[in-house]
Amino acid sequence: MNKKYYYLLLPCLLLLFYVPVRHVLADGQTKTVYITFDDCPTGYTEEILNTLKEHNAVATFFILKVYSDERPDVVEKIIAEGHGIGLHGVGHKKEQFYQTEFSPLWEMDEVRVSLFQLTGQEFYLARTPFGSMPSLSRNQYKRLQNGGYILWDWNVDTADAIGASVSTEKIIRRTVTGIVREETPVILMHNMRASAIALPAILDFIDRQGYETGLLSECPKKPICFIDP
Ligand SMILES: [Zn+2]
Repeated sequence: MNKKYYYLLLPCLLLLFYVPVRHVLADGQTKTVYITFDDCPTGYTEEILNTLKEHNAVATFFILKVYSDERPDVVEKIIAEGHGIGLHGVGHKKEQFYQTEFSPLWEMDEVRVSLFQLTGQEFYLARTPFGSMPSLSRNQYKRLQNGGYILWDWNVDTADAIGASVSTEKIIRRTVTGIVREETPVILMHNMRASAIALPAILDFIDRQGYETGLLSECPKKPICFIDP
């Protein structure tokens, strides 16, 4: 990571050390944190992969077909480094994705088939653009379920996609607070610059608490799905 970012993160790290957030868990128990990245792969994915590797951490990457078509090598790298793959649709165009009863299913099918052709693996873990609420209808949800897709939303929103108005410090604070709050934290991040900068401090926190990171496909809990709580 660029050195200047470390100077930027130092106050945040110091802040985290002095916030009394250590969770006391019963003997032998640990907390598994599920980090997820939407809108993958991008120009920041490799930096994110390197940071995850440095921390021996895993994450789940939700793939957009228009992006994976451009960077199939990065998708292969995500898999080769032991991370999870989820489907996020074709082009992230809201009107198009939610247009008809079948359009969400068709978009997930399209990205699934293209990833199968690329990797030889079938992926059914999915997240609809902007999450399943409020745009996904009950009928669209049923079509996806019948297609075999398992929808996952999140319970920790880092707000990293808001844009330039969100500071790295705020992303870190929101994430850490959410990790402490939730029994099974499922973190929503994006493959963006702000997230790539915030990630080392978030992983430092997870390490310091003695928590683990896990793949969403291996989470034993019922999927968090806003439309089907
Ligand atoms: Zn998205």
